[in-house]
Amino acid sequence: MKLSCRASLIKPSATLAITAKAKKLKSEGKNVVSFGAGEPDFDTPDYIKNAVKDALDKGQTKYTPVSGIDELKTAIAEKFSADYGVKYENSEIIVSCGGKHSLYNLFSAMLNDGDEIIVPSPYWVSYTEIIKLSGGVPVTADTSKNNFKFNLKLLEKNLTGKTRGVIINSPSNPTGVLMDEKDIIEIANFAKKRRLYIITDDIYEKIIFDGKKFFNALMADKSMKEYTIAVNAVSKTYSMTGFRIGYTAGPGDLIAAMNNIQSQSTSNPATFAQYGALAALKGGYEFSNMMRDEFQKRRDYMLDFFDKNIKSMVPVKPDGAFYLFVDISKVFGKLKNSNGDIINSSAEFCGYLLDKYLVAAVPGVEFGNDNFIRLSFATGLDVIKEGLNRIKESVDLL
Ligand code: PMP
Ligand code: GLU
Repeated sequence: MKLSCRASLIKPSATLAITAKAKKLKSEGKNVVSFGAGEPDFDTPDYIKNAVKDALDKGQTKYTPVSGIDELKTAIAEKFSADYGVKYENSEIIVSCGGKHSLYNLFSAMLNDGDEIIVPSPYWVSYTEIIKLSGGVPVTADTSKNNFKFNLKLLEKNLTGKTRGVIINSPSNPTGVLMDEKDIIEIANFAKKRRLYIITDDIYEKIIFDGKKFFNALMADKSMKEYTIAVNAVSKTYSMTGFRIGYTAGPGDLIAAMNNIQSQSTSNPATFAQYGALAALKGGYEFSNMMRDEFQKRRDYMLDFFDKNIKSMVPVKPDGAFYLFVDISKVFGKLKNSNGDIINSSAEFCGYLLDKYLVAAVPGVEFGNDNFIRLSFATGLDVIKEGLNRIKESVDLL
């Protein structure tokens, strides 16, 4: 049938598609190693599950206010105050159905046709598509020549009269790289002067390695509250991806507009899931810190393996998150897939890995850089070891 222009503008999420493909092959009995998953492999902690069971037992199965229960918004406000030293009223916070939905509501509420948002590249696959769905234009700013660190110079290079804001995702998906604090401060000062908005996607803020510290625009200076829209979720911090609880804090008029949009689309996020998120936010970071330490061990193992065994592929060292972004450009032109075609792109390389070696990885082109692939290490070390051995074998001919 004839589809809307908006629907034909966007592509499906490659990260979800590859994870689903790997799961399907596994269910057919194939011994697939998946580096696709963008979700922690740890079980959700019991205290969170018990809070949900308790909520169900208490009859928390009906609508809540569209923007979420007050207790949860208060807990989110307390988190912002404790972590960034910034005070929010509950009317400046909205709970949505996952971080992705928070971003969708945000860009729907904020953008007019043709408005531009600067997206540092490589970027998480959904930013560009959500912006396009909202009528906006994603303007990608390549960070690859600056060690994958976005800065004011790159922002200015991509600034036009239509720029409304910029996304900061540090540590980033897919590189795991943290921006320098001084660069965030410079961008914050510039945003204030030019009345631009910083959309800070802090979803990986609690997964940072080597004792490095998280920093965002809200921490740059108290007045940045006016120019910052903070998006976050319980998905990664507490291994609650299936709960679908994300949240946004920002200027009251924007949050009210997001509330209107949400009221005419999903209504409130699932009631009992909100109680799980409340328990999570009140429960401290012992579990998150345990996951972080485990992710760091896996990262270190993988970096060491590439360094010692796979010279033709060069990973970017991640400061956080759970992804390894690996430069594969040295193998281009040197390998053939099962049809005899020479491999010259990240998608072709990922196809070759999956077909011949049963290893699932996400092509870098989906994140805006065709010279790379993304390997998620949100999977056990035994699986990682097997997967890396297969990748080594896949390029051993070189
Ligand atoms: N932002 C980034 C950078 C992500 O990687 C993800 C991953 N899903 C999200 C937002 C959204 O997370 P969710 O919708 O699962 O809460
Ligand atoms: N954000 C994760 C990823 O990049 C989960 C999948 C998705 O929502 O994109 O793999």
